Amino acid sequence: MKVPYLNAGYRDGVGVVGPLTLHGKTSCYECFKPGPNEKNNLNPTNNNLDNIKERFYKRYQAPSFGPVNAIVSNIAVLETIKFLGGFGKVNSMDKEIIIDAIDLELQFKEYQRDPECWHCSDKS
Ligand SMILES: [Zn+2]
Repeated sequence: MKVPYLNAGYRDGVGVVGPLTLHGKTSCYECFKPGPNEKNNLNPTNNNLDNIKERFYKRYQAPSFGPVNAIVSNIAVLETIKFLGGFGKVNSMDKEIIIDAIDLELQFKEYQRDPECWHCSDKS
């Protein structure tokens, strides 16, 4: 729908904010989701480790940890205000901000736009 989107979530003691997706400017979910060959490895008829993990995570409810939720939601709001207000550096553009709340560490995982992406490239 070409609406800016900011991912935010958590699992156990780790929170994630980003990437911020801007249609036609940044990478989108379709740029980095598994390709057809990787999807085939998740076929539930196979008994490999990926299938076991896939079945596990379908039933898994990530535990909610208040301090992590507060950190993630506040960073997400900060990123949104900077983006909408047009000031400061929006750190989540094409990046995941990974917050390890247990060790109080930040990491950044970068994503690159796929120039051939069916959803966000100039060809779409
Ligand atoms: Zn894309």
